[in-house]
Amino acid sequence: MFKTFLQLLYPKLCFACQEPLFSSEEFICTTCRIELSRIKLVENTPNWVRAKFDGLIDFEHANAFFHFMPGSRVQQLMHQIKYKGASDLGIFLGVWAGSALKKSHFYDEVTCLVAIPLHPKRLQERGYNQAEVIAKGLANALSIPLYTQVLKRISQSNSLIGLNRAARYEELENVFEVTDAAKIRGSHVLIIDDTLTTGATFLAAAQKIRAAGATKVSFFALAALK
Ligand SMILES: [Zn+2]
Repeated sequence: MFKTFLQLLYPKLCFACQEPLFSSEEFICTTCRIELSRIKLVENTPNWVRAKFDGLIDFEHANAFFHFMPGSRVQQLMHQIKYKGASDLGIFLGVWAGSALKKSHFYDEVTCLVAIPLHPKRLQERGYNQAEVIAKGLANALSIPLYTQVLKRISQSNSLIGLNRAARYEELENVFEVTDAAKIRGSHVLIIDDTLTTGATFLAAAQKIRAAGATKVSFFALAALK
């Protein structure tokens, strides 16, 4: 009763459209759950997400959950996860995406998950790694272990805005390091990030993971820019 009263005074808002949520709704309203722009890919068929990696690295699967468009409700969601402290929203969306992926059998042969790490300094400022909270939700829904101590970011990259993929890759080539190669040797590693733009970050991480002995890599981003 008191909770209902509080909800009237201070309604919880949908993280995507900012409209008040009904008490039965969590994080995202029913309308947004239906209307948010989703990417529905069929395994191993040519598509624009795979095209970001084609010819650049030997990989198995690439997929993303939301279609990222500037000014969209998806951008609003990603902004909340990345800059507004909404780590629990990241877990919620990871579980949602993971449940959908499980049904589609997209990543059935993946043996472990690794999230794109933040530099320790950035991690301290933000308090959490947004890619890792998404990965936690995914790991839970997919029942695949998430390794949080395997990949480290050893240096901060300069801003990548305005750089093309080749220049971005060059900037990122040596920012990651595998610190526990034994853990991923012979594995099929699913690399997870919050947003996929050019794919340069994924590529830089994947090169290190492959070099450390993982036999297969796949990619997943919560949202991807076409
Ligand atoms: Zn909404």
